[in-house]
Amino acid sequence: MIAQHLARGHPWQPPTPEEIEQAERKAQHADHAKGDGPTVVGHCPECNGELIMMDGCPTCYAGCGWSKCG
Ligand SMILES: [Zn+2]
Repeated sequence: MIAQHLARGHPWQPPTPEEIEQAERKAQHADHAKGDGPTVVGHCPECNGELIMMDGCPTCYAGCGWSKCG
């Protein structure tokens, strides 16, 4: 019987607004981490820092400012 089943276990409850908000924040954070950062295209031959694409040129972002097009 349904009534007995509910009485034995925890009754299902809808997520609270807080839980929904947390889930949405997590989802946004994941999107943000994936889509919004600079794309690392290689490593700098000078300092081994990360190269990112800037104005179409791989450029040393973290270190010395080396650029492939410079
Ligand atoms: Zn560098």
